[in-house]
Amino acid sequence: MVLDQLRRVFEPFALLKNLFKKPMTLQFPYEVLPELGGYRGRHMLDLEKCAGCFICAMVCPNKAIFPVEFQGRKYPRVDLGKCCFCQLCEEYCPQNAIKLTSYAMLVTTDKESAVITPEELGKMPGH
Ligand code: SF4
Ligand code: SF4
Repeated sequence: MVLDQLRRVFEPFALLKNLFKKPMTLQFPYEVLPELGGYRGRHMLDLEKCAGCFICAMVCPNKAIFPVEFQGRKYPRVDLGKCCFCQLCEEYCPQNAIKLTSYAMLVTTDKESAVITPEELGKMPGH
């Protein structure tokens, strides 16, 4: 009883500790998220391993993968505007060529730049 009353008296002061905590939000684009383990972010494609079979495109539920010509042959191109990051393309790729990285900085102001070319997919995102 007495303890409960004391707790009620001091409860508002407990909130003051939040004034000294670091904010949970980031000042994007000046601050970026650290690597997030287990997060499904932008894809990466191993151009040497990719056989051009397009099983990834067939299993994609959102039709986010299309074949495009690059360096004399067909490679996947990924439209991140359509992708739901289900990871099925990675799971079904017989060559282990396409993978979802933990790269989460996928901000864009136009939908064209959400389409990732094979050349871009071949590089580590953010580098
Ligand atoms: S990424 Fe995998 S599934 Fe897609 S075309 Fe290349 S080898 Fe085939
Ligand atoms: S993660 Fe899913 S939705 Fe995105 S490209 Fe791969 S299969 Fe398609």
